[in-house]
Amino acid sequence: MSVKAISLFSGGLDSMLAVKLLQDQGIVVEGLTFTTPFFDARKAEAAAARIRIPLRIEDITTEHLRMMKAPRYGFGKHMNPCIDCHTLMLHLAGRIMDETAADFIFTGEVLGQRPMSQTRQSLHIVARNSGYGEYVLRPLSARLLPESRPEREGKVDRQRLLALQGRGRKTQMEMAGAYGIKHYPPPAGGCLLTDPIFSRRLKDLFERHPDPDRRDMELLKHGRHFRIAAAAKAIVGRNEKDNLALQSLIRENDAVLKMADFPGPLVLIPGGGSEEEVREAARLCVLYSDAPKDAEAAVQVTSSGRPYVMAVRSADPVEASQRILR
Ligand code: SF4
Repeated sequence: MSVKAISLFSGGLDSMLAVKLLQDQGIVVEGLTFTTPFFDARKAEAAAARIRIPLRIEDITTEHLRMMKAPRYGFGKHMNPCIDCHTLMLHLAGRIMDETAADFIFTGEVLGQRPMSQTRQSLHIVARNSGYGEYVLRPLSARLLPESRPEREGKVDRQRLLALQGRGRKTQMEMAGAYGIKHYPPPAGGCLLTDPIFSRRLKDLFERHPDPDRRDMELLKHGRHFRIAAAAKAIVGRNEKDNLALQSLIRENDAVLKMADFPGPLVLIPGGGSEEEVREAARLCVLYSDAPKDAEAAVQVTSSGRPYVMAVRSADPVEASQRILR
């Protein structure tokens, strides 16, 4: 019977090469990738199509948000809990390995390539804490790491695996050439949790919201965000694309503002706000609109399901810039 393995597949060059190395040994590979509001499957989908492997895509938002509330190993430079995130992914991959009767899981990780998540200790911790430590193989660095169960059982030939280490990419580029892989994405990127602006917005959300959901996360991706009160935030669309995105995320209890007589942004107070907070949001709406800034302008408000028009002057640009979350 053929040996079957699950590739935790990011779509980066290393994950493609790891697949190729195992396919060279006749192992049947199925790709697995995860989505949350912070990262998607586009890169993995494109790469899986390129090297022709089946790809399973799992939305792990619920588990990921639960982990984000209290990551055991904390956050990296921004809001990226990479060690706990990798642990979770390996754990979920392990469960799928069990369900599908696969023999092991593997990743394209290279020892020492990333400062936080790919040290010898981190690789050991994430595999152990996933509950599937023995079944995790890293084909690109396997000969520098303890022998995994599939190697011990003869399902994988350790001698045909690699001993790559460090940040250099020369060997990987040569291998890509040998395998005819011409197109691949740059090594890092794609996760919003490593983005400084998104991370500050997310930190603000976690500090003030005990139980944020997917919609709260999606809102963080669009517009300018202003903290207008301890419990209220105004989100101001920067352009038509933002306005449309915000429009699509509106819920019944939000306060929604638009200019009555001039082109301007869509402004949202998620969950609604007090009269004073709505007034603050209206002043921001005027500030970022085409209305003259030296007179009152009419803002169309819908708050608590009630539409009305409010006349306000523009917010002060300096004061506004001090409240922006960036
Ligand atoms: S960069 Fe993002 S997706 Fe990757 S391990 Fe870190 S938190 Fe998870």
